[in-house]
Amino acid sequence: MPPALSDTIVALSTPPGAGAIAVLRLSGPQAIQLTDELFAGKRLHEQPGHTLHYGTLRDEGRILDEVVVSLFRGPHSYTREDVVEISCHGSDYIVQQVLAALVRRGARLAEAGEFTKRAFLHGAFDLAQAEAVADLIAADSALSHQVAMQQMRGGFSRELKDLRARLVQFASLLELELDFGEEDVEFADRTGLTSLLQELQTVIRQLLRSFELGNVIKNGVTTVIAGKPNAGKSTLLNALLNEERAIVSAVPGTTRDFIEDEVSIEGIRFRFVDTAGLRETTDVVESIGVERTRQRVRQAALLLYLFDLTATTPAEVATELAELNPEGRIPTLAVGNKLDQIDTAEAAAFAQPDTLLISAATGQGLPELQQALLQQVRGSGLDRTGSATIVTNVRHARSLEAALEALDAVLLGLSVHHGTELLAADLRRALASLGEITGEISTDDLLTSIFTQFCIGK
Ligand code: GDP
Repeated sequence: MPPALSDTIVALSTPPGAGAIAVLRLSGPQAIQLTDELFAGKRLHEQPGHTLHYGTLRDEGRILDEVVVSLFRGPHSYTREDVVEISCHGSDYIVQQVLAALVRRGARLAEAGEFTKRAFLHGAFDLAQAEAVADLIAADSALSHQVAMQQMRGGFSRELKDLRARLVQFASLLELELDFGEEDVEFADRTGLTSLLQELQTVIRQLLRSFELGNVIKNGVTTVIAGKPNAGKSTLLNALLNEERAIVSAVPGTTRDFIEDEVSIEGIRFRFVDTAGLRETTDVVESIGVERTRQRVRQAALLLYLFDLTATTPAEVATELAELNPEGRIPTLAVGNKLDQIDTAEAAAFAQPDTLLISAATGQGLPELQQALLQQVRGSGLDRTGSATIVTNVRHARSLEAALEALDAVLLGLSVHHGTELLAADLRRALASLGEITGEISTDDLLTSIFTQFCIGK
């Protein structure tokens, strides 16, 4: 049974500020009646769901606005309750007046994410799907949109529920053995259980691997672009930005010398962190800058080392790379720039794996550079994922890790012939962790922390 949600909530569902239209949304048992009290036009409570009505909103004899009301009768609505959406003119003043009139009549201002929370509580979708709604609103690239859409439509949830259902079957057989206590019976076939557990672990590991890529899709790839002054870093960034006609964002980094630019390549966002430039220096302030550059490199997912082909020898490139990335842990692309200034014989001297030659000024070699950047990401995720489902949510990844760990314990218990009681306890833990993802098992704290990350009105 869904919990009793007796009050009617209201919020502005479009962004605040002036606009052509603003949409206010009400949900709850009094949604239609409260709107009726303000609405001059047809009697809304006599109208069927999924209908639109034009009229005026009046409060204390004053016309507030001409509006269109969309009527949804529960359970055929987003929240499964009666829902009214009022489309009024997009003025903050009008919105405030209408909200105030509705609140005076008994509506309550909705908290962040409360509409989606109600939809979840009424079983319209599970928790993972609800979270995908927030991701969908925040999606800013083709790929992040695609992944969020897939999750919202239940792809990930289906995969999990299937896993969980098969475990539940075994768990109930084990619980049955417990009921028989001393009689020492085995209903649950241990060999079958072992192979099921191993199969589940394979799927969970795949999902966890997909999280690496999911994280990249959601948060972008931090790429440090390092190189000496005049190597052409700014020219290259501009060329990449123009190439993709991406939205240019120049947010200052934590210090003034780091500028972040975002370039989207085939739906994957690369966050370029520019550095002050590398140079040997005796100046204390500058050497701090160099140290910071190295620190940045250590935290990056990718290092793009740009050098000037007309002013660098292949040996210098090797030395600089070794200094920037001493342990070679960070995937690195060495990129020689100003190819337009040297001849083919000179260029041949730089031929190395993971070295590309480009001209940021003429655009030569840029498509190859973009493909090389993508390859770095895909090589580390997409190809190995082997799963159509991509995990993007940290909470889901943590729960999957916990489930994996609990399944390990069950497997270990089986191999050393633990008693049924211990096995059943570990299995319950695994089930709980999987159940947390979709919300089959949830706590108030968890729900609060999830839904407060939503915007008001969603
Ligand atoms: P940064 O200090 O690394 O950001 O370097 P800039 O992007 O400011 O470039 C330094 C200079 O090199 C500028 O005068 C650019 O016009 C020039 N430059 C950059 N890329 C190329 C290139 O591919 N070919 C040529 N000939 N000049 C370039």
